[in-house]
Amino acid sequence: MVVTPAAFPHSVALAIVHARGLGLDALDAQLLLLHAMGMPSECRVWLTAHADDPIAPSAGTLFLTLLARRLAGEPLAYILGQKEFYGISLSVDSRVLIPRPDTETLVEWSLEILAGHPGARVLDLGTGSGAIALALKHQRPDLQILALDASAAALELARQNAARLGLEVCFLQSDWLRAVAGVFDLILSNPPYVGDADPHLAELAWEPEQALAAGADGLDDLREIIATAPPHLQPGSWLLVEHGHDQARRVGEMLRDCGFQQITSRRDLGGIERCSAGRRPVQ
Ligand code: GLN
Repeated sequence: MVVTPAAFPHSVALAIVHARGLGLDALDAQLLLLHAMGMPSECRVWLTAHADDPIAPSAGTLFLTLLARRLAGEPLAYILGQKEFYGISLSVDSRVLIPRPDTETLVEWSLEILAGHPGARVLDLGTGSGAIALALKHQRPDLQILALDASAAALELARQNAARLGLEVCFLQSDWLRAVAGVFDLILSNPPYVGDADPHLAELAWEPEQALAAGADGLDDLREIIATAPPHLQPGSWLLVEHGHDQARRVGEMLRDCGFQQITSRRDLGGIERCSAGRRPVQ
């Protein structure tokens, strides 16, 4: 984007108008402007009340840079460096998948299963930013949570998130369950589940492919998780997984073939069957 003097945002209102004129929606424009001005996202109402306030040249220049990044397709969460998830604010960058509201279904379901199980041992597979593990620990400080990821870079960020939020979760580098010893009261995962040839993958090009793509049918990682989880589950305990919009039936079959019972699916906020669970037989 060429920055002409005419494009330079001299006031709050002009900055928003400029961004809108380039095709940004109002929310993105406001959040980028606040970020450029060093103000938190909660201050959106401040912008309305201060529409005629001048913008410092350094903030104006930064705003135009952030705007150019957004217009090039970079996700807002990476530009802001943070994303809200189930009541906590996580630092995110290109090392990790951006937590989605869809995944809150998995957290909510886990909390229901874990109600009445104080001190339960929970394993989060493919934790990325730590979103699921940290959201659970935030809701239930009594839980003992182990969160793993194959990516050392993702774990570095997840550990930073845990430290900043003051939440005690154990992290482990492991390719699925290969480095895991022990038995848990709940295992859950939002693994990669997009098919390698799925055109949707191109729209997600800013995020780590390792966190998204899972073989020709998108089920490679789910297959491994479902096949290897049973010896790590206490009899009678649950495995919960997130999956693609059209994978509930096949994931259900995979769970059944691996001996799971009471197999059920749940819909995400968009009404899509997004999570499935199975229970390890009691005996
Ligand atoms: N829900 C993501 C998407 O399709 C994919 C996340 C994943 O593969 N776990 O945008």
